[in-house]
Amino acid sequence: MKLSKTNFLICLDCAKNAWLKIHKPEVYKKKGLSSFELNIVDTGNQIDELARGLFPDGMLVKSRDDTEITKKLMEEKTPVIYQPVFATEKYFAVADIFVFNSDTNVYDLYEVKSSTVSEENGGRKTEDYLIDMAFQKNVLDDLDIKVGTLNLIRLNKKYVRHGEINLKELFFVEDLTSQVNEKLKDVRNNMEGAYEVLSSETEPTGHCDCILKGKNSHCTTSWYSNSDLPEYPVHAISRIGNSKKKLAELVDSGIFSIHDVPDYFKLSANQRRQVDTAKSGKEYIDKKGISEFLGAMKYPLAFLDYETFPSALPRYDRYSPYQQIPFQFSLHVIESLDGELVHQEFIYTGKDCPDEYFTEALKKHLPERGSVIVWSQRFEKGINKQLGERLSDYRDFMESVNNRVIDLMIPFSGNTTMYDHPEFKGSASIKYVLPALVPHLSYKNMHIQEGGSASDTWNRIVSDEYSEDEKNMKIQALKDYCHLDTLAMVEIWKVLKSV
Ligand code: SF4
Repeated sequence: MKLSKTNFLICLDCAKNAWLKIHKPEVYKKKGLSSFELNIVDTGNQIDELARGLFPDGMLVKSRDDTEITKKLMEEKTPVIYQPVFATEKYFAVADIFVFNSDTNVYDLYEVKSSTVSEENGGRKTEDYLIDMAFQKNVLDDLDIKVGTLNLIRLNKKYVRHGEINLKELFFVEDLTSQVNEKLKDVRNNMEGAYEVLSSETEPTGHCDCILKGKNSHCTTSWYSNSDLPEYPVHAISRIGNSKKKLAELVDSGIFSIHDVPDYFKLSANQRRQVDTAKSGKEYIDKKGISEFLGAMKYPLAFLDYETFPSALPRYDRYSPYQQIPFQFSLHVIESLDGELVHQEFIYTGKDCPDEYFTEALKKHLPERGSVIVWSQRFEKGINKQLGERLSDYRDFMESVNNRVIDLMIPFSGNTTMYDHPEFKGSASIKYVLPALVPHLSYKNMHIQEGGSASDTWNRIVSDEYSEDEKNMKIQALKDYCHLDTLAMVEIWKVLKSV
């Protein structure tokens, strides 16, 4: 076995997970990648290729198995090499860009990441990237290949597109040679440890370490390593991952099911309510709280939901990396207490920037007064704010929309919970709340079932990846999905009203 950089990094997070990836790929891959994860992979490849434009006309090493090609290109002092491959007896690394420096007579290394950074803010994951580059440097040292500087290329968070993309402004290049060098020894030790664990044929047995962590920390192979956990485990108790002592106490006492948590066990009020709701199988309803919450809503009620695409590469003018592109909305309006429900929708699948079309349609269909009901207000409010910033003519309108927003998720969330149901399983996601409260409405049979997939579908439509028929079918699927999002809110609101 040769330990690749990717497997080493996974092993640093969790040795068991990395072992399964190498020795039991059928377990590792069973859950497959979500649309969101596939999009991350696509984005990484796209940014990697774009960054090559900073050092144009390089030679691409296509074969991952043949280190001789890299060797030859380096011997020939090829000015720029993309994806050079290096391997020792134990380790394997593919760098992103090698640039020959004629002053020092050695290559400089450039590692490309699709995350963002700004001058003032060091960016997330910098530590991980130092380890990533230290792995590569250790492999190069083993091969007696001298390199000059070790550089990290990331997207500049502050970049705003105006006209053609300026690669030098879009990317932020940092020389991290000394920081990487400081890590070499520690990373070397970890590489040796990881090699030993991962080259062993013996599978680590028993529960994995996440048995002592909350559900959000569990990876996609958790079902395999912790197969004896019940369907609703104590790990799903809200924020239990932040109270490690409590979780350890439960696990050490052999309590794995939320239904077995003793009544005397100390929990926060929120956690206790979730456990009691699960154990009793009965709903928790704070009628007074719900009544006050609904009382703040003013007719006409406009139930609004957006679909967006987060493009790493600013696709239109005035966009920054990863800014969400709003391309669709669904709107259900109820004029008065006994008023009829009216639906409006908008989707843009043309080639221009959707901003103006989107905002104009919203202005046309959204009532001028009354409450705007959304699910998880941070998202829609953030989109409105950005639209106002990009389109100064609509700034006041977007601000006024935000001032009318009421978040329908509040009665189901954390400390503000007014309604809990055993089937919410501690989640305030509409994907849990809807089937519990309105069983006849469901995302299950929808062609598109979640936001990541909606976003990916739109991107493929505007990238001309579908035939005309397929495109029409996908547009309809997007409309159906977004329509259900706002209809779901209407039905949930009716349930709240009924109690
Ligand atoms: S669930 Fe946690 S400990 Fe278990 S394999 Fe996954 S990451 Fe590792």
